[in-house]
Amino acid sequence: MSGRLPALFVSHGAPTLPLETDHPTHAFLQRLGAELPRPETILVVSAHWDTTVPAVTAAGHPGTIHDFYGFPEPLYALRYPAPGAPALAAEIAASLKGAGLPAVADPDRGLDHGTWVPLMLMYPAADIPVLQLSLQTRAGAEYHWQLGEALAPLRERGVLLIGSGGATHNLREFFRPQPGQGESYVQAFSDWLRHTLARGDRESLIQYRSRAPQAARAHPTEEHFLPLLVAAGAAGTPGERIHTALTGASLAMDAYKFD
Ligand code: ZN
Repeated sequence: MSGRLPALFVSHGAPTLPLETDHPTHAFLQRLGAELPRPETILVVSAHWDTTVPAVTAAGHPGTIHDFYGFPEPLYALRYPAPGAPALAAEIAASLKGAGLPAVADPDRGLDHGTWVPLMLMYPAADIPVLQLSLQTRAGAEYHWQLGEALAPLRERGVLLIGSGGATHNLREFFRPQPGQGESYVQAFSDWLRHTLARGDRESLIQYRSRAPQAARAHPTEEHFLPLLVAAGAAGTPGERIHTALTGASLAMDAYKFD
């Protein structure tokens, strides 16, 4: 592997995405995996793992966690049997500690749907080692940018860093129809995000809750936004929107690539 891999942000939407063959994001993620240079390892920062200090999965064969309830039965039969990368996990934990971020390698944790939903579509063979990294939601936006900065050197080493969350994520409004697309808060927040990332405006991204239109409605809680800041922090460059779609009334499925 030579050269640097991009960092990505993907919106994983509902856990049913791997089964929804007619959803535009389903086909997008399949194409994306086929188009990117093949990584040696994949590191996913998932919205669905929140710990007090950074934790990295360190199992040789991480399990598939079905961390949701009330979905169709076939979803619970899905497995993503990619190998782990325990040695690299230990190394990442050590290097985060060196950057002042007390981190641990977790030998028991498996992969939650924030990781396996996109990877099942991007890399269906599950033959590339996968690590997952946790969020510390109480630490806020700037902290997650810095977490990304600490991970940046991995991009030179064949590691594909993916933040997996949602460009907007309001589950209370999932079934609430929007007015015209142009008027909706989902559209307003998504447009702001697109322009702010295109400028590489670090300060506005970190201050997004006060600067972005409808931020508190687009993200009643922060966990689906913070993975984006990790990816942007690892890149430190403008990000290009490479996909946009909608799940339900309130989940923008936008994806970004940082070269
Ligand atoms: Zn989610």
